[in-house]
Amino acid sequence: MSARLLDGQGLAARIQQELVPQAAAFTATHGRPPGLGILLVGDDPASEVYVRNKVRSGRETGMRVDMQRLSATATLAQTLAVVAGLNADDHIDGILVQSPLPAAMGHDAEQRVIDAIAPAKDVDGFGVASVGLLVQNRPTLVACTPSGVIELLDHEGITIAGQHAVVIGRSDIVGKPMAMLLLHRDATVTICHSRTRNLADECRRADILVAAVGRPGLVRGDFVKPGATVIDVGINRVDDAALAASLFAAGHPRRDTFARKGAILVGDVHPEVEAVAGALTPVPGGIGPLTIAMLMKNTLKAAHARAGEPVV
Ligand code: NAP
Repeated sequence: MSARLLDGQGLAARIQQELVPQAAAFTATHGRPPGLGILLVGDDPASEVYVRNKVRSGRETGMRVDMQRLSATATLAQTLAVVAGLNADDHIDGILVQSPLPAAMGHDAEQRVIDAIAPAKDVDGFGVASVGLLVQNRPTLVACTPSGVIELLDHEGITIAGQHAVVIGRSDIVGKPMAMLLLHRDATVTICHSRTRNLADECRRADILVAAVGRPGLVRGDFVKPGATVIDVGINRVDDAALAASLFAAGHPRRDTFARKGAILVGDVHPEVEAVAGALTPVPGGIGPLTIAMLMKNTLKAAHARAGEPVV
């Protein structure tokens, strides 16, 4: 058996296409496009790529995207000042501060920046107001990666209600909101983490297994119940030849990519899972593009909500 590959990239493109006329209608009604303010602090290469994709996607959707940068030596106070400016800017409906912030800013910098974002503009869904509303299953701006997973499961006709879902990872940005969304859709949810005993046994009980860990190839074939749906949220850059070789057999096209580029992006799910799972998201081209599409959806949603209109 070989798993059906779930095309997150295709669904993301479709969502973005659907947003174009909706953003245009907002612009026609309000005399301004929905606005997204992005702040990038420092020069982390992965963040550069993520931000570039978000800017491009926003502009292609017909939104205004204001991109600001601060150097890696910027202070927390300077970062908070940019957020305050975006909060006060009436043309901006959504605010995104790209993570990670430079380590020198302090261990609680990310939390303080998230706390500073106006709840109405919290398009990442990380703030306490958004999270509280999510826990109570009330309308809110929901974190983009987990809501992208739900969107994909729905689009693919994969039943959630009554299924046993196992989420590996309990981060505030993926694992916890993912578990909450699955719970609200009537799945029976288990959350696993680094202290979980018998991880493979827990995972093997899953009808839907979501891996959001950040460990290349952690989820092996024996973690997966035959026919289960496996969602690979992990995005890991592998530049170690031995690790690449342990993931992809000689002759596999990804090995050629590694040889050419010296690095590849892989998920948390080992390629051998393809022979066991019923459905599987690829990396790249799975959940990553959906995360950006959901950010655009959230920005339009925030724009309508700020205008006092029902969300389309
Ligand atoms: P994170 O904050 O580092 O959280 C990782 C979680 O995995 C933690 O809860 C940790 O447990 C758990 N974990 C670590 N090692 C484990 C192990 N050996 N066994 C079981 N659990 C383990 O990471 P994150 O921000 O949630 O991101 C996770 C992955 O998703 C990363 O690869 C990231 O790049 C990717 N990501 C992708 C997207 C996307 O758009 N597709 C978006 C966001 C993140 P403890 O809590 O016990 O430490």
